[in-house]
Amino acid sequence: MDTETDVLVVGGGIMGCAAAYYLARDGVDVLLVERGDLNTEASGTNAGSLHVQLPSSLFVEEGEAMIEARAQTTPLRLEAIRTWRELADELDDDIELAVTGGLMVAVTDAQLRFLEIKMARERHYGATVELVTGAALFTLAPYLSERVVGAEFCALEGRINPTLATPALWRAALRAGVRLWRGTELLALERASGSYVAATSRARIRCSRVVNAAGPWSDAIARMVGFSMPVGGVNLHMNVTEPAAPFLTHLVQHAGARLTAKQATNGNLLIGGGWPAHGESARGHAEVGRESMEHNLGVAQSVIPDVARLRLIRCWAGRNIVGDNLPVLGPVPGIPNFFNAVTGTGYTGGPVSARLLADVMAGRKPSFDIHPFSVERFARAAAAG
Ligand SMILES: Cc1cc2nc3c(=O)[nH]c(=O)nc-3n(C[C@H](O)[C@H](O)[C@H](O)COP(=O)(O)OP(=O)(O)OC[C@H]3O[C@@H](n4cnc5c(N)ncnc54)[C@H](O)[C@@H]3O)c2cc1C
Repeated sequence: MDTETDVLVVGGGIMGCAAAYYLARDGVDVLLVERGDLNTEASGTNAGSLHVQLPSSLFVEEGEAMIEARAQTTPLRLEAIRTWRELADELDDDIELAVTGGLMVAVTDAQLRFLEIKMARERHYGATVELVTGAALFTLAPYLSERVVGAEFCALEGRINPTLATPALWRAALRAGVRLWRGTELLALERASGSYVAATSRARIRCSRVVNAAGPWSDAIARMVGFSMPVGGVNLHMNVTEPAAPFLTHLVQHAGARLTAKQATNGNLLIGGGWPAHGESARGHAEVGRESMEHNLGVAQSVIPDVARLRLIRCWAGRNIVGDNLPVLGPVPGIPNFFNAVTGTGYTGGPVSARLLADVMAGRKPSFDIHPFSVERFARAAAAG
């Protein structure tokens, strides 16, 4: 055997780096393998929005059962914001955390009524949200178009810079003793005499426990030990404008269209919200397309007119996780010492999910019940037909 470790973490995105950090803080011996470079897939290409509200697209794309399941994760997203605040104090760098509030804007009365229904559900699960209309709205957000008839405001939403936050986490993990192996792909996993033997592109590793933090590729890792889960990937488009003087104080979303818009610390506007990018192959580079660029910017300009005076300087695409909108977290029945670490609450929920997993792996009672996020739910759903 080339090397040994207690926990092998597979994947160097936010989930893998945060899991490595929290485990090492508990004194656990951790080796993380990342086939490419750290933070180069979704975790380094995302928009950095910190979400608490339910997205409007959920209500268009999913049925009642999934909307309700996702609503039940509201307390997890609230805990996610608390976790980011703790990390902002703990980590060695400014991660550009700004909890300045989020607005989901409505441009029709029907969208306003939809927001009222959505807010009732979010409040039921503990979120503090309010409807802002009229003069109060334009005092709060003078940058909004007069077309906007009202907005749902959540004070706990905001933004972070993922290109600073994940590196700060992996530096903290390194200081806590984690070994990080970049350019190391997990190729196969075998169980032998009560431990796992991992064949990687760099070395053979014996480990007692495995954390599957491979994001959209988590199902491929699961299959190596004999189970499967409906987790895949989809390519998404992002736009960024030239920097402007600070004016967009909030995270802005739309009640009837795909939009997230925010202004980064350096003044750039990051505009996205789930518009598709091209590229089918799981490992091939995703390609940006003109249609998503134009439609996304069109929605942004329709509610934030000043977007029109800014030049677009860059587009990129990243591969996001597609699953059932919930995390897949924790042990796998029948497969000893194998743990899933798939965020179902985006980059926002990465650290909190990793912390809850570290609690479970240390035998502590997690501060949040993760049973609903067990991989078992897929088997139950399949059995129920
Ligand atoms: C364009 C875009 C915008 C987004 N915007 C937001 C947002 O504003 N707010 C938000 O909360 N969320 C957002 N998300 C979602 C968020 O980025 C992801 O949910 C999150 O980053 C996933 O983190 P992860 O660590 O699980 O996966 P990833 O970041 O994909 O990391 C998984 C890692 O595993 C590695 N890996 C896979 N297989 C192997 C193997 N066999 N061996 C070794 N390594 C392996 C991969 O190379 C990869 O680096 C966005 C996503 C995208 C794509």
